[in-house]
Amino acid sequence: MTFNYEELVKNTRKAFNTGKTKTLDFRLTQLKALLRLYEDNTQLMIDALKIDLGKSKQESITGEVNVLKNDVRNLIYNLREYMTPDKPSKDIANLFDGVYIIKEPYGVVLVIGAWNYPLQLLGAPVAGAIAAGNCVIIKPSEVAAETAKLFEKLIPQYLDNECYKVVYGGVTETTELLKQKFDYIFYTGSTMVGRIVHAAANKYLTPVTLELGGKSPVYIDDTVNFDVAVKRILWGKCVNAGQTCIAPDYILCTTDVQHKFISTAQKILKEFYNGDIRHSPDYCRIINNQHFNRLRNLITESNTVIGGATDESNLFIEPTILVNVKADDPIMQHEIFGPILPILNIENFEDAIDFINLREKPLALYVFSNKKDVINTFLTNVSSGGVVINDTLMHFLTDSLPFGGVGNSGMGRYHGKYSFETFSHQKSCLYKDYNIIAESLAAARYPPYSDFKTNF
Ligand code: NAD
Repeated sequence: MTFNYEELVKNTRKAFNTGKTKTLDFRLTQLKALLRLYEDNTQLMIDALKIDLGKSKQESITGEVNVLKNDVRNLIYNLREYMTPDKPSKDIANLFDGVYIIKEPYGVVLVIGAWNYPLQLLGAPVAGAIAAGNCVIIKPSEVAAETAKLFEKLIPQYLDNECYKVVYGGVTETTELLKQKFDYIFYTGSTMVGRIVHAAANKYLTPVTLELGGKSPVYIDDTVNFDVAVKRILWGKCVNAGQTCIAPDYILCTTDVQHKFISTAQKILKEFYNGDIRHSPDYCRIINNQHFNRLRNLITESNTVIGGATDESNLFIEPTILVNVKADDPIMQHEIFGPILPILNIENFEDAIDFINLREKPLALYVFSNKKDVINTFLTNVSSGGVVINDTLMHFLTDSLPFGGVGNSGMGRYHGKYSFETFSHQKSCLYKDYNIIAESLAAARYPPYSDFKTNF
């Protein structure tokens, strides 16, 4: 029997039209229930992430469950303030009027998640949509099947059953869902599928957020503290075995810096995993055979200076560093999305900027330098979703910063108050009454027109 998506959206819209999601009380009740869901089921989440990605307990807690708990707590704490209409400044013509910006929920929202951080990439936008007063249809990634099934089981146990619904499924189900009319679509995943989502949204002029991917470059020069810089870069690459949308994708540096980078990297990888990464409980596995084979084919033996070991029986790929990589090599054609780090040599930072600017705008840019002029030139001359100086990934965990892409790496932003804003239409409201003085001031707009009124 095929599922009736039209009916699903119709019923969810009916629930939205009752108005119940619009009150502060209802939103708070649902957000508190979502927080309880995370608190009661932390262990089940850790177990599901272990099965899907071999994620360690620490990465599951700090990179998924705690991100969600903190996000919901922030929304609960600030919701009343976020919902309060803004009162922008008034000019003389509106002195007697009310001038407001009302944060209005869009209606029925579709949230589509990706598999690499299957909990937080789904839960964070869902919380933002609930906080903003929407009904939500939630589509977890079928690729992280255990986590998706857990979401499907738990959401109805905690959240209002009429307003929040989970659809479990893959391409076929998402394709059917996308034929329906939504009031907002929030998609996380590849740029290629992002285009499909955008095209589907276009049919109904549905606004979208697209959280996409791409190749996030690292520039590093010889002014840095190598022990710290290399540790931060390798951590960003090794977390989730490189399956992170903002993982450092490739390095641009001079050959001198490359030598220092490699000798430091050898030492740090040993420290990270006690010299036995294959048996370390701290290192993830590749999500499935298809991605494993894609990645294994990118490791060219003659370029490998660190790592290179693979084991298909448990989807293990060792952190691998490649040198003498050229811009037209296969590894430079698409986002790597795995623990392989190619180094490309440039002469100076201007070369690095030219290299990056010849390509699609990255989701993240990482600049490792202690030279202010170099840093400022990157900040001014390179467009990217986000930029971090002397670290990797940490902007994602900084709640006061909006997270999102630009150009091919996406559109829109979320996290913290930006999640609330994303799912709210900012409705302009001009509120007039019948004040006689205000009316006499405004009377110049009525015919009969005259030169005097034109210049008033
Ligand atoms: P995926 O395969 O899980 O796909 C994402 C979602 O799209 C899933 O829910 C899936 O069911 C759906 N989907 C897949 N193919 C589809 C199709 N043809 N039509 C309609 N729906 C379809 O994840 P992925 O795309 O492999 O994710 C990896 C990509 O996502 C990487 O490029 C990564 O950089 C990016 N990503 C971006 C962010 C971000 O926040 N910007 C976060 C995580 C991942």
